[in-house]
Amino acid sequence: MNDFLTANYHAHTVRCQHAYGTEREYIEAAIAMGIREFGFSDHIPCPFSDGYVSGIRMTMAQAPSYVETIRRLGEEYKQDIRIYVGFEAEYIPEFYEKQMRMMRELGCDYLILGQHFLESEQTGPYTGSPTDDESRIRAYVDTVIEGMRTGSYLYLAHPDLMNYCGMDSVYDWEMTRLCKAMKEMDIPLEINMLGMATGRNYPSEHFWRIAGELGNRVILGLDAHCVEHVTDKDSYGKCMALVDKFNLDLINRIDI
Ligand SMILES: [Zn+2]
Ligand SMILES: [Zn+2]
Repeated sequence: MNDFLTANYHAHTVRCQHAYGTEREYIEAAIAMGIREFGFSDHIPCPFSDGYVSGIRMTMAQAPSYVETIRRLGEEYKQDIRIYVGFEAEYIPEFYEKQMRMMRELGCDYLILGQHFLESEQTGPYTGSPTDDESRIRAYVDTVIEGMRTGSYLYLAHPDLMNYCGMDSVYDWEMTRLCKAMKEMDIPLEINMLGMATGRNYPSEHFWRIAGELGNRVILGLDAHCVEHVTDKDSYGKCMALVDKFNLDLINRIDI
């Protein structure tokens, strides 16, 4: 048995303005850790209609050089590791078609769904902000299910990002609905190692108990924002303890 993950599809680059280090450093660290498949999934750019420029993602104009940089490194390191390029995307209907066209034009490998906002970041509050508003957790689950029905996403990143702090019965009901829908569509759920490392509201034991009971497939994701996250054995151990505790159906890789 390995003492670290062997495939990771969740990593960011400096283009999102809150990640550090070079792609080459990430790749070399991954190789040193015995990782055999490594996917970059930086925050997807959004085609804002009013000229708004996000402080947490690249612009549409930066996307070609992002893909090109990673393709070049993938070629350079192909003897040692398989490199993929994709994006972590919210499902936002007003942006979806344009983003999918960009994906096709750039020849990206995959998308993961990370619903950080329910609508554009310009209007919606961050999903990880605490709330006891039932309508928000309901909207989160509805949006994720609707997005996944497109068939465009490899897995659901940090499904437990939604920070609902109201009644347990509401959380149980909504997250059961989410997990059942993901199971029907055979979509793996990600245990997020960055959340573990930084003490965020996720991974949530409450959530993973539900996923364990329903038998969802589960995968670990580094969500690397710096090279140290690529070698974080401590968070790996804590996430594996969660897998054991809730008897989660862990998978090690996904075909892309
Ligand atoms: Zn995320
Ligand atoms: Zn991420």
